[in-house]
Amino acid sequence: MSEHVLIVGGGIAGLTLAAALDPSRFRVTLVEERPERAGAGTVLALWRGAMADLDRLGVGERIRAASITSDHGTLRDSHGGVLARHRVPRLCFAPRPELVAAFEAVLPTTVTRLTCEVTDPRALATEVGADLVVGADGVRSVCRQACLRPSGVLAGRGFVARSSHLNPRPVVTEWIALRGHLPGRRPQGPTEWWGPGGVFGVTPGPRGAAWFCAVRTDQPDRRLQAPSLEGALALATNRFGDWDPLLQQVLAEVGGEADVQRILLAPPLRRSAADGLVLIGDAAHGMAPNLGRGANEAIRDATVLAAMLHRHGAKGGPLAFPRRRHATTQVLRLASSVALRTATTSRLAGVRDHVLRMLPQQAPPTG
Ligand SMILES: Cc1cc2nc3c(=O)[nH]c(=O)nc-3n(C[C@H](O)[C@H](O)[C@H](O)COP(=O)(O)OP(=O)(O)OC[C@H]3O[C@@H](n4cnc5c(N)ncnc54)[C@H](O)[C@@H]3O)c2cc1C
Repeated sequence: MSEHVLIVGGGIAGLTLAAALDPSRFRVTLVEERPERAGAGTVLALWRGAMADLDRLGVGERIRAASITSDHGTLRDSHGGVLARHRVPRLCFAPRPELVAAFEAVLPTTVTRLTCEVTDPRALATEVGADLVVGADGVRSVCRQACLRPSGVLAGRGFVARSSHLNPRPVVTEWIALRGHLPGRRPQGPTEWWGPGGVFGVTPGPRGAAWFCAVRTDQPDRRLQAPSLEGALALATNRFGDWDPLLQQVLAEVGGEADVQRILLAPPLRRSAADGLVLIGDAAHGMAPNLGRGANEAIRDATVLAAMLHRHGAKGGPLAFPRRRHATTQVLRLASSVALRTATTSRLAGVRDHVLRMLPQQAPPTG
C-alpha cells in the first residue's frame, strides 16, 4: 500500500518535491495558500547542483532555454569603481514563473491539490490520513512554529531550536529587499554594488535585465511586514542617492511591478526533522538573499528528500534526510548573513575594498 505525504507549501521546494516523488510509491497532497503567488517574482540565479537536479526531473532543458547563462560577474563600490571581476561556473538566470510552470508541467496527475491556509499541520495530516508532513511553507513556516513550543522543548522527538534562539518564529531583520525587471537592456553578466547600508544588483534576465536591492531601514521597530512600494522606493532612492548614477536611473524607471519584502531569516535549528514532520527550503533555512542560494537549496532539499523517501520510506526518509542536508544549509544560512554584513559595512569598507582589489581579477571572456 502506498504511503501518503502531505506537503504544506507549493513554492519552489514543495513543487520540486511533489514532482520528484514516484506516484506509484507515494500518494501526495499538496496544499498551497496562494497559488497565484508561487509563480510571481523575477529571476533566480541557479547554480550547477540545482540545474543537475532539474535535469533529473526532466525540466533542465526547458529552464536552460528560458534562461540567460553567464560565467562571470563584477563587484563595484558604491560609486561604480570595480572592486573585483570573478568567474562563476555557468550561472543560469532563470525566470521564476518559468521554473514554476516547468514543475507544474511534470507534476503527476495523481497529486491532490488543496488551496487553503494550513494552521495546524498535524491536524490536517490526521484529517487526510498522511504518514508524513513536509513543511515547505517558507520562512514564516507554520510547520516550524507548530512543532516548536515557545519554550523550545520538543513537540516532536528530536526537534530542538538552539538554546539561544528558542523562538521558532522568523527572525525579522531591519532589511528591506526590492526587485523588479528592467526591460530592454541586457547586461553581459551580474553586477553588484556594495556600500554602507545597502547593496544593489543587476543581472541578465529574459526580459532584458532584472534588478534587486537591499536597504537597511534604520528603524528600531522591526515590523514583520514590508513598507509599501512607495515607502520602500523612497527609502532606496534616498539610500542610493549619492551612489553610481546608474542606480538612480534604474530606480526612476521602476513601475508598479516591483516586489517589496522585508528580509526574514529562519532561526537557527539544531535539527530539521521530528516525528512525522520534516522541514525543507526556507522553512528550514530561510537566508539573506546575498549568496543567491535560497531557491537552489530548496531544490536540492526536495530532491534529496525524495531520494531518501524512495530509499527508506516515510518513516526512515526524514531521519536520513538531515544527515545529508542539515549542516550544509545551516552554514549557508549563516554565511549569507555574513555576506550581507560584509557587503554593507561602513566601518570595514576600506579594508574590504582594499582586499577585493588585491585579488586576481578574472576578466570576462572576449568574443
Ligand atoms: C530579493 C531576493 C532575491 C533572491 N534571489 C535568489 C537567487 O538569485 N537564487 C536563489 O537561489 N534564491 C534567491 N532568493 C531566495 C528564494 O526566493 C527563496 O529561497 C525560495 O523561494 C524558497 O523557496 P521555498 O519553496 O522554500 O519557500 P517559498 O518560495 O516562500 O514558498 C512557500 C510557499 O508556501 C506557501 N505557504 C506558506 N504558509 C502556508 C500555509 N500556512 N498554508 C499553505 N501554504 C502556505 C506560500 O504561499 C508559498 O507559496 C531570493 C530572495 C529574495 C528575497
